[in-house]
Amino acid sequence: MKLPRILFILALLSAGRLAAQEVDSVISVRAPLIAFTHAKLIDGTGAAPREDQTIVVSDGRIAAVGPSATVAVPAGAQTIDLTGKSVLPGLVMLHEHLMFTSVASATVPRHFAEMEYSFPRLYLACGVTTARTTGSFEPYTELEVKARVDAGTMPGPKFFLTAPYLEGFPSVIPQLHPVTSPEDAARQVNYYADKGFTSFKCYMHLPRAEMRAVIDAAHQRGLKVTGHIGAVTYREAAELGIDNLEHGFYAMTDFVRGKKPDEMPNPAAAAGSLAELDINSPEVASLIQFLIAKHVALTSTLTVFATSVPGCPILTTRELDCLSVNSREQYLRTWARVSGLTDGRGVTILHKMMALEKKFHDAGGLLVVGTDPTGNGSTIAGHGSLRAIELLVEAGLTPVQAIQAASLNGARELGVDKTVGSVETGKAADLVVVAGDPATDITAIRKIEIVFKDGVGYDSKKLLDSVRGCVGIQ
Ligand SMILES: [Zn+2]
Repeated sequence: MKLPRILFILALLSAGRLAAQEVDSVISVRAPLIAFTHAKLIDGTGAAPREDQTIVVSDGRIAAVGPSATVAVPAGAQTIDLTGKSVLPGLVMLHEHLMFTSVASATVPRHFAEMEYSFPRLYLACGVTTARTTGSFEPYTELEVKARVDAGTMPGPKFFLTAPYLEGFPSVIPQLHPVTSPEDAARQVNYYADKGFTSFKCYMHLPRAEMRAVIDAAHQRGLKVTGHIGAVTYREAAELGIDNLEHGFYAMTDFVRGKKPDEMPNPAAAAGSLAELDINSPEVASLIQFLIAKHVALTSTLTVFATSVPGCPILTTRELDCLSVNSREQYLRTWARVSGLTDGRGVTILHKMMALEKKFHDAGGLLVVGTDPTGNGSTIAGHGSLRAIELLVEAGLTPVQAIQAASLNGARELGVDKTVGSVETGKAADLVVVAGDPATDITAIRKIEIVFKDGVGYDSKKLLDSVRGCVGIQ
């Protein structure tokens, strides 16, 4: 072998070793046999919390769960006493992104930057062990991030990837290719499915014919389609066979007066229709029933909306510490501006949308949860995921229901509920250890100590420390 080639291979090998060391440095528990004892368990199935439980983990899987009085700790197990602490399932979040969005100014439009280093770490640090990205700007980066996480050389959740957005005309964001025809739509689906993407997202201006082509092509391959739609109404999309709709009812244009088929209404008209909506009307009840009958899951992404209305709490120090100097300044300016808004319409809409999500949930609809770490840069991966769960409790779900929505429900929509999404025997040991009791005070979900993915325990604080100042535009 020639010397340059040997050097190249040596460099690759040492890069691989370095990457493995990077992962090792944030792992605090790695043992073939682990027993958690005396834990309060919220198992993700919606069942009532159980006190004083033992969970045995063997080779990355849950081998036994039950009362500490009856489940024996196997010989040789590393025992972790969780008295006063709770165990939740690893979160399964369904509207995730790996890009950060800056705040647009009067002269400079919104800018997007891929957070391939910090976001996977933030998700994992905050208990997200499974994440569906929901629209990609850098598809090859995201394939590579997933490959590295799967290979164990990068810390992060188990990723399920959504292809680049399938947008119609006009595409307001330069990163989004506008689909030119139904044939082009099907071609895109097949191209990205061949690359390893397992989900597709129709965007705001995509008309019905193209949406139908996306759904048909994806379904032929056994893959699912979601949408942040607008030109097509929720009822029309459900009729076409869409599997999932993003942003709760925020993107619904069904009740915009004078809406033309296949045309995205202007944003003011769309927001106006939500502000004026009678959420108790028979028309709204009928739409909810139709979505449920068509098995359309709904993704709640309340964090990103709550940050754009007055009354939103300022980010915690822990969250601000993640942001770069520039992005922290931008965020603080935006927060002050939003806090000073006197128009109450945003708050009215937020409360109506929260109430509608609860109605959908209570009527038996599959409500799943996502973070959508975009907006004006104030929704941060991981931290925003936890806020999304708190907001569902503010919407009226019980903490146990909100946790179920963010774990087992997400796994169901992804079709992986046999292996993840709840703390049950036989499933992957994806577990979150928190100090305190989220069943009585949901804000305790922020007190995460260790996050287990496939039985390997990641130190939440070390992961957070590793991304200080890394999030945002430098
Ligand atoms: Zn999104």
